Amino acid sequence: MAGSDCSLQGRIKSGDFLFTYISEIKKYMRKLNNCLMLVMLPFMVSCQGKTIDSKQNQNNTKQQMEYNKLTPEEERVIINKGTDRAFTGDYYTKKDDGIYICRRCNAPLYRSADKFDSHCGWPSFDDEIPGSVKRNTDADGDRTEIICNNCGGHLGHVFMNEGFTDKETRHCVNTSSIRFIPADSVKDAPPVIHLK
Ligand SMILES: [Zn+2]
Repeated sequence: MAGSDCSLQGRIKSGDFLFTYISEIKKYMRKLNNCLMLVMLPFMVSCQGKTIDSKQNQNNTKQQMEYNKLTPEEERVIINKGTDRAFTGDYYTKKDDGIYICRRCNAPLYRSADKFDSHCGWPSFDDEIPGSVKRNTDADGDRTEIICNNCGGHLGHVFMNEGFTDKETRHCVNTSSIRFIPADSVKDAPPVIHLK
């Protein structure tokens, strides 16, 4: 009897030991899991960071993939080759030092040093920043259209041999097509948008 009691107690003890053993393993696994989480956390944060970075890059790329948003009036002039009404806008009398950039793509087009008062009601320049303006003969063959060499936006027309300045050139530019950047802010001017 004693032997069988011992045997029973032994089995109970073995059962207790097994239970304790499993509990210890579970505790160990929980600790291991926590440790793994601590080890993995920087990678998880890093991955999340990369996701945010790639989203920001996508946004930047998206910004660079589009020209500046235009008002309906600017669109009428720049895209549909319209003309501002004479003696309207801020620029036809402006004499401040600075540069004029394309309102659509920010490309520098004209310098205030080349601006003169033609009394025609539109901003007038007798020269462009080299390489910034392209000339096309109008469909009627009479006038020469000027467009931004970067984005193709309509600027106005160029007229020759009118006697205004020594250069005998008058770029008659729509205020809606250009944006003035004061000389002391040129370094902060928006970057040129290239879509080609
Ligand atoms: Zn442009």
